[in-house]
Amino acid sequence: MARGFRRPFEAVDYSDLMRKHVPPPDYFDSDWLMGPEEIEAAQLSRLKHRALQAYDVPFFKKRWDAAGFHPSSIESLADLDRVPTYQVDDIRRSIEEHPPLGDYQGASLDNAAQDPIRIFMSGATTGAPRPTLYTQWDREVGAILTARSLYLQGVRPGDVVVNAWAYSTHNGAFNFDEALHKWLSCVVLTTGTGNVTSSRRQVEIAHEYQATAILTTGDYLLHLAEVAKEMGLDPQKDFNLKALPNIGDRARLEEVWGVPNYRSYGFHEVQWVGIECPAREGLHVFEDAYVVQIIDPDTLEPLPDGEQGCVCLTEIYKTGSPQFRYNIQDLSSLHPREKCGCGSWLRRMAPFAGRADNMVKLRGVNIWPEAVGAIALDDPRLEPEYFVRAQREGTRDEMTVHLTTRAEPSTYGEIVKGAEARLKERLGVRIRVEISGPGSLDEWTEIHTSPKPKRFRDEREE
Ligand SMILES: [Zn+2]
Repeated sequence: MARGFRRPFEAVDYSDLMRKHVPPPDYFDSDWLMGPEEIEAAQLSRLKHRALQAYDVPFFKKRWDAAGFHPSSIESLADLDRVPTYQVDDIRRSIEEHPPLGDYQGASLDNAAQDPIRIFMSGATTGAPRPTLYTQWDREVGAILTARSLYLQGVRPGDVVVNAWAYSTHNGAFNFDEALHKWLSCVVLTTGTGNVTSSRRQVEIAHEYQATAILTTGDYLLHLAEVAKEMGLDPQKDFNLKALPNIGDRARLEEVWGVPNYRSYGFHEVQWVGIECPAREGLHVFEDAYVVQIIDPDTLEPLPDGEQGCVCLTEIYKTGSPQFRYNIQDLSSLHPREKCGCGSWLRRMAPFAGRADNMVKLRGVNIWPEAVGAIALDDPRLEPEYFVRAQREGTRDEMTVHLTTRAEPSTYGEIVKGAEARLKERLGVRIRVEISGPGSLDEWTEIHTSPKPKRFRDEREE
C-alpha cells in the first residue's frame, strides 16, 4: 500500500471473518447447531493451518523440533496429542530470555503500521504479567466469541451495559467493550472499577440508565446490591438487569438480582473459551475457535472423558500469537460429545474446579483451595468469601480456611464446628476453620481491587 500503513478496519476481511466465526444472533441458528462430523472437520482443517503458523514462531519451533514433531504430520485431531505441551513457567522463561515480549509472539511491534496490533497483559494473579500481541483479526474473533456469550446470557442489541472492569493493561474490559459496541450495538457505560467510579455512583448509573448487565466480579456485584439497598433501592424491582455475566456465588447472585447466571470459562491469552447454555449441563466450547483437551497434571497424557485434570488448550482462530497445547493448569473435565438439551453438539467442559499449581498435598490427599472454599461455604449463615492458607507446623502441613459471617459472635463456635465436619467428611482430612465479621478478609482477597479475588496463600516457604 502506497501510504505505508493500514487502518485496523482495512486489515480484516469482514465477510470472511463472519463466515468463519459467525456473530450472534445468527450463530445460534447456524454453527451452534452444527453436527459432530462437521465440527471436527472444520477443527482439523483450522488446526493444520494454525500449526504451520505456530511453527514460524521460535518458541514453538524450538520445542517441536526437540520433540521430533513437524506440523505437516497432522492428519487427524488425535495427532494433537503428539505436540509438546507448555505452561506458564515456560512463557515466563521466554520473557526473561527475550524481554519484554518473549519469543512466543506471532505478531510484531515493528510491523504494527501494516498489521495493526494491540498489546494486553495477564493479570498478575500468578507471577509477573505476561504480554500478548493481538492482531486486528484476533481482536475481532475474541469480541465475537464474547458477544455470543453475552447474547446467550441475555444481553440484547441496543441494551445499555455498565462495564465496571478496569480499563488498564488487561484484556478483559476492552474485550467486553469491543464485543458490546462492535458486535451487539450495545451502549457501553465505561465506569471502571470501584476505585475509579464509587460504588454509589455505579449503582446510580445502572439505575438511571436501566442497564441490563453490570460487568464485574460476582463479589463486587453482590456488594453493589448491598449499596443499592442502603440507597433505598431494590435490586430486583428498581433495576433492569437481564443478564449476570459475572463469575461468583451463583446461588446468591441469582437470589439477590433475580436473574439466571450461566457459568463461563476463558483466560486473557485466548479470550472466551466456553459458556453454559440454559440446560446447565456443562460449558459449551466454541469449537470454531478452540480444541480443548484434559491432561494428567503429572504425566501430561490426555485423560479419558469425565476425568478431572488440567485444561490443555489450542486456539485455532488467531493470526497472531499462537497458543498451541497450552497447559493452563486450570482443573476441569470434558463431557463426551453428545447432543445437548439445547440442540448443540459442541463439546462441553465442567466448570473451573481450581488451579493445579495451587494444589496442596495434605497428609497424602490432594487438596485444592477452591474445593475447600466451596465446601466450607455450604452454610447460609456465611458470607460468600473465603481465604485459604497453607502452613507448616513442625513437620506437618496444615491448612486453615478463613470465613466471614454476619451472625452473632456467640454462634461462631457452632458454625466453625459444622464447617470443619463438612470438610473432614468430604475431603478426608482435618482443615481448620476460622471465622470473623464481614469485610475482614478484604485485604487478603483484594476483592474490591482485583479482577480475580485471591483465595490462597502458601506460607510454607516463608
Ligand atoms: Zn447446551
